[in-house]
Formats: sequence, structure tokens, C-alpha cells
Amino acid sequence: MAKAKKKKPARAKKKLAAPFVIPAPKAPSLPVAGEKARFPVRRIYCVGRNYAEHSREMGHDPTRELPFFFTKDSHSLVASGGVFPYPSMSQDVHHEIELVAAVGRGGSDIPMEKALRHIFGYAVGLDMTRRDLQGEAKKTGRPWEVGKAFAHAALCSKIRPATKSGHPVKGLVWLKINGEMRQKGDLSEMIWNVPEIVMHLSRLFPLSAGDLIFTGTPSGVGPVKKGDVLEGGVEGIATLKVRVG
Ligand code: MN
Repeated sequence: MAKAKKKKPARAKKKLAAPFVIPAPKAPSLPVAGEKARFPVRRIYCVGRNYAEHSREMGHDPTRELPFFFTKDSHSLVASGGVFPYPSMSQDVHHEIELVAAVGRGGSDIPMEKALRHIFGYAVGLDMTRRDLQGEAKKTGRPWEVGKAFAHAALCSKIRPATKSGHPVKGLVWLKINGEMRQKGDLSEMIWNVPEIVMHLSRLFPLSAGDLIFTGTPSGVGPVKKGDVLEGGVEGIATLKVRVG
């Protein structure tokens, strides 16, 4: 009798198993500093031209623009310590080192003064870019995906909870290639700060827990090549080290 009782719940459990017709993709996630539990990643939003010097180096006038956004595929995440495989169809792959904000609580039309309540923590990321394909897309008025949303295009460190780091408004953002400094900026130079970004972005898209926001890169972007070691950080938040394979 005891045996029969045991069998029943096992059967019920089997019926509940999700009936996928092909293997379901693994849910992307990132480690969290000081925690065993990981941060599940949903969408990846990126801010374009958020530092005046970088905007100028790309041939734009930084004073006239509202923030604009593009996305990357969360399945293209590469964690620190990993390898960034040099992508296909490009001879000009660039590094863009950026502060990343990790959304812990979703919302739409989030007012600026409440925006930071929606941020779980921060990381440092590299918005890898096939600059030649992006340039072609800009010229022809086509979407940016080929330049920005290719496989392995989103490199990201561990996430540091804001309960530990606070919400940074200044601090060095830097990138070295093979030990040589290539990008150096400060969070205080961002044209749109994190609360402003969250306000604008949440008007366009309902934000959800698990979303990442790459907040834009300081000047000094440039090409990488196979074998390079990319090492970057945001002061007080995290560092990231990835090899180009
Ligand atoms: Mn970027």
C-alpha cells in the first residue's frame, strides 16, 4: 500500500514536464559577486553614443541627440575568463568597454527618481562590434544587428549587487589590450546617467527583471585581433578578462 502511494506523485510530475519538440535552449545567466545564486539574463539593451568624446570620434554631434537603443541576444553572452571567438564576415571587430546595469525589478514608464530601485546591481561589459558591417548598415539605412547582435558579442563580468557597491555615478571605466591602456573614461562623463537611461528605455520597452543595460562606451574604441587579451573594468564594480580566439 505504501508503495502505491509513492507512485502517484511521480506520475503527476511526469505529466507536468514541458513538452518541447526540440531541445530547449539553456537560459543565459551570469555569476553574482559574493553569491552562489546566479543572475538570469533576459534581454540585453545597449545605449548608443553616451559619451561625448566617443560620439565625436564616430562623427556625430553629441549635444543634439536623445538616447537611442539597440539590443543584443542574451544567448550571445560570454562571461569573464571566457573566449571571444573572432566572428565571421568582418575584418574590423571593435571593443567597447561599458558599465552594465542589471535590472532586478521590471516596469514601464519608470520615473527618473524611482529608477534606481529597479537596478539590482552593476557589471562591466564589452559591447563587441563588427564595425565594418555596422558602418555599411548605417550608410544603407539598414538595421544594426549584423554589426552588434552576432554570436558571442556581449562580454560581461560578474554582477555586483547595488547593496554592496551602491549606485556609481563616477569612477574609472578602462580597457587594456595585452596590458596596454586603450580606453579610459569616467562614469561622470556619461551624457545620460543610469536613472535617465532607465526612464527613456522603460518608455519604449517594458523592462523586466533579468534585463541588462549596456550604458555606452567612452572614447578610444578600436580593433581587436586573434590572440589579444582584453582586460577591463569599472572602478569599484568589477573587472573582466577575455581572450580573442
Ligand atoms: Mn556600445
